[in-house]
Amino acid sequence: MGASARLLRAVIMGAPGSGKGTVSSRITKHFALKHLSSGDLLRDNMLRGTVVPAPFVEKTTFIDQGKLIPDDVMTGLALHELRNLTQYSWLLDGFPRTLPQAEALDRAYQIDTVINLNVPFEVIKQRLTARWIHPASGRVYNIEFNPPKAVGIDDLAGEPLIQRDDDKPETVVKRLKAYEVQTQPVLEYYQKKGVLETFSGTETDKIWPYVYAFLQTKVPQINQKASVTP
Ligand code: AMP
Repeated sequence: MGASARLLRAVIMGAPGSGKGTVSSRITKHFALKHLSSGDLLRDNMLRGTVVPAPFVEKTTFIDQGKLIPDDVMTGLALHELRNLTQYSWLLDGFPRTLPQAEALDRAYQIDTVINLNVPFEVIKQRLTARWIHPASGRVYNIEFNPPKAVGIDDLAGEPLIQRDDDKPETVVKRLKAYEVQTQPVLEYYQKKGVLETFSGTETDKIWPYVYAFLQTKVPQINQKASVTP
């Protein structure tokens, strides 16, 4: 790898529940690049009360309610952070989320690749609505991985289980639709630029080897750290 070797500028996209978090952490485990998550960045800045202008500092509710932070604030924050990472390859996660954000990012950096995780809507819905809790004890069940012995009933207390509002089908569907509406133009934008790489499937473990193989084609633009095993 000569001095002129370029660094990798990558973005990962995927709906909530698409496995984006898992895939991102596997990528950073196997490849030498910095992972920058906009959600983490925002939470961090909210906590420290820095960088985000005053009107938004108090607005943790922005995040709590799942509403998007205004584009100029988000873009300013992300680009500010990226200025510290110029000598690294990086993977952006959660940013850009809108077309204006993608365009602003483009003015600052040339994006090499956008990894798009495409998991069927119904599969994601099933994953995100699988959690049931027993309110009195806080015991948590997952219909897929850790179901109660009797449907809808706490194993120990024999009382009914409930779903948190966030985990109810109607909330989940709303969230997924909102994600789709926001990000569709971004996906189209990157598609037109010829940098969109879509990975489709229903299980993260089945999608991962393809993502891994794809990123290997980018070595030595990024350095590889270990083998494909998650
Ligand atoms: P996340 O952890 O990605 O779900 O982000 C948590 C919250 O941060 C979101 O609900 C938004 O309020 C905000 N947020 C994260 N990324 C962005 C972005 N690119 N643009 C605007 N708001 C964002």
